[in-house]
Amino acid sequence: ETVLDSWNNDGNFKMNGSKASIQTIVENLNSADLPSNVEVVLCPPAPYLGYTADLNKQKIISVGAQNCYIKESGAYTGEISPLEIKDVGADWVILGHSERRTILNESDEFVAEKVAFALEKGIKVILCIGESIDEKKAGKTLDVCKRELSAVIKSVSNDSWKDIVVAYEPIWAIGTGLAATSQDAQDIHSEIRSYLKSEIGEIADSVRILYGGSANGKNAPEFKDKPDVDGFLVGGASLKPEFVSIITSRQ
Ligand code: PGA
Repeated sequence: ETVLDSWNNDGNFKMNGSKASIQTIVENLNSADLPSNVEVVLCPPAPYLGYTADLNKQKIISVGAQNCYIKESGAYTGEISPLEIKDVGADWVILGHSERRTILNESDEFVAEKVAFALEKGIKVILCIGESIDEKKAGKTLDVCKRELSAVIKSVSNDSWKDIVVAYEPIWAIGTGLAATSQDAQDIHSEIRSYLKSEIGEIADSVRILYGGSANGKNAPEFKDKPDVDGFLVGGASLKPEFVSIITSRQ
């Protein structure tokens, strides 16, 4: 069990938003009184990365992409380079989201390659892991998390984990309104941390492990005293004013 000072709460807008709706979201955050020991990353659709970064006035808020590729530039139609992400004022990228693993068929190895490349180019990573409902029923939750993590562990140095945030997102909880209980999240987060510690050593104590999957303003406070829950990766609720209550839920 580890209690970290700096929480990390990230908004994954997925393929949602317009200039108008993103302006509303960012202005709402700009006018909020946000704690200084929380780090927030807003991840809009790629066309709005620069726009979001330009609108943001909060020091604790950064901007992140939802995906990136394993090349700096070139003939890779439709792909996004970490250098482009950086150039428009964003510092983070979400990698390995279950929607990309399942819908876009991204393998553990490809995700790991992306993680290594993004880090090498100076972009910090929100690495998503988590099991499907069938895997959960089969008692494979930890196995799946370990498998997804181990591909990344093999591809990056132990020291690189200072720039990686792990988001445990059980697929059955994403967009369903059925969040994991705070105790279930704590239990698996603690096992994830132990596994990381056995593989990468002491630095695992300072890796933020976020919970994701139907987190909202109402359930966020329940996770407040769970020592291995270091924040949230929020989908739907990050598009709403209640994102502020999630960010401040540990205060
Ligand atoms: P949700 O999505 O909060 O809408 O469940 C979380 C995510 O997929 O990152």
